[in-house]
Amino acid sequence: MKKVIRDFECAMCGRCCASQDLVQLTAYELYGLARHLEIEPAEFFSRYCVTASTTQNPTLHLYIKTEDGRCPFLKDNKCSVHEARPYACMAYPMRVYWSLTEDMKAFVRSKYPALEKTCSLFRLNDGDVLLGDYELLSRQTLAWWVDDAYFSLAGEMADLSIPYRVADFYIHDKEMMEAAKRYVVNPYHPPSAFGAELAYARISLMLQAAIWNATASFVPVKVQEAKEDERLGKFILLTADADSAKALGLLAKSGRLDLARTLAMASNAYGGRHVIASMHGSSSDHIAIGFIFHESGTIIRELTDDGKKPLYIFFKPETGDEVKLVGFPLNVKI
Ligand code: SF4
Ligand code: SF4
Repeated sequence: MKKVIRDFECAMCGRCCASQDLVQLTAYELYGLARHLEIEPAEFFSRYCVTASTTQNPTLHLYIKTEDGRCPFLKDNKCSVHEARPYACMAYPMRVYWSLTEDMKAFVRSKYPALEKTCSLFRLNDGDVLLGDYELLSRQTLAWWVDDAYFSLAGEMADLSIPYRVADFYIHDKEMMEAAKRYVVNPYHPPSAFGAELAYARISLMLQAAIWNATASFVPVKVQEAKEDERLGKFILLTADADSAKALGLLAKSGRLDLARTLAMASNAYGGRHVIASMHGSSSDHIAIGFIFHESGTIIRELTDDGKKPLYIFFKPETGDEVKLVGFPLNVKI
């Protein structure tokens, strides 16, 4: 009978901490480590970190540097920052929510062959199930999404405090944690994958506003319809609550709308839909308003003439004067 292993009994040989090219880290964890060591995050970064892309993670990310494979925090075969150690260290060997011991052994054997002699993972029976801590894995996933989105927007780790603040905000947000948990437990289930894309889009918009040094608010989209109008042409009409539509109208009319970013994420995970996230703002007022919606790839291609034209979006308030539409052309990459 299969045994489910939730608590891994580590033999404390220290070998895993001395066999790493790099130790996975995020800005959120970096702040925790800096607090633990009572040093500034920037000092922690310059003393212990590197940004790199790896075969496993081709996008740029943060890591703890090692020397001859040894993590700088390994002292007398023990982790000297145990309470604040990175999530990847806490999770090992339950790196994913559910795995068979033999699969994890094969992974570790291929990546860190030196561990086979001493790691207690190799004393577990094949066929048993390793069950990860999904709360921990969900926090790790959210923090990782934030860094991933930050690097793709900023190109480099320009200001560590931005991904830290955004991760701290979303790790304490019930809805976002639920999306991360669903993804961690079943990443291949189409609604989980799609929920992850929506969460990633929201994170990206929040980061964009922070990079602009603007206060962000989000428009809750209530209804969306693809429309064609003689005067306006083909467009998507989004219905928002009256206050949000009014705020968008005021921003558009102010003449100070000089910040705009559209992020379009294709998704085949859930009926070939595209997640479209857009942030608009004013650099003089330091405010930005974002919205997220999803539409089928077929409709987007039709409305943009196969990606040759911008996607026109108009908002109308769910109550009140329907004539005062406020609209934006979005450059959507499809
Ligand atoms: S932070 Fe601690 S647990 Fe993680 S690799 Fe370094 S010494 Fe090991
Ligand atoms: S190699 Fe395995 S047994 Fe040794 S310290 Fe790491 S997790 Fe524990």
